[in-house]
Amino acid sequence: MRSLRELLTADAFYDDVFSIDFEEEKKRGIRGVIFDIDNTLVPHGRPSDEKTRGFFASLKDIGLVYCLISNNDDQRVRPFAEDVGAYYVCKAGKPKKSGMKKALAEMEVSEPEALFVGDQLFTDILGAKRCHIRCLQVRPVDESTDPPFVAFKRMLEKLIMRS
Ligand SMILES: [Mg+2]
Repeated sequence: MRSLRELLTADAFYDDVFSIDFEEEKKRGIRGVIFDIDNTLVPHGRPSDEKTRGFFASLKDIGLVYCLISNNDDQRVRPFAEDVGAYYVCKAGKPKKSGMKKALAEMEVSEPEALFVGDQLFTDILGAKRCHIRCLQVRPVDESTDPPFVAFKRMLEKLIMRS
């Protein structure tokens, strides 16, 4: 059985989503990418912007499919997903496996063909790892936009990552 440490450690770390080499990921067999939204793609609660839309257009050009996954509600997630042309799963209950499985089903890719990108250990990384999905952790876009409960979790995450 995998240790909690393994389940909470991403496969790679990046400063932001724009620094990830998706061409390289595709070469290693990745077909679909699952993204967290808040503080992974944009500051918490913000709509998509020009840069984000361009980013997803470039993924489409490479030939990757993508799905947004969020514990937030439809009101938050759907407009964002429509803006960038993504599949989406809202109220995903990360780190539960069910939301991740739904994202895979939407994209019609299997676990080994999927990549997950997110900013939080206890929801994103743990959720992806539980499903045996390769996962990349990015630095939060702007921590000052975190709601209080997220800020608290982040404090715990920092303690764990330091150890
Ligand atoms: Mg997030």
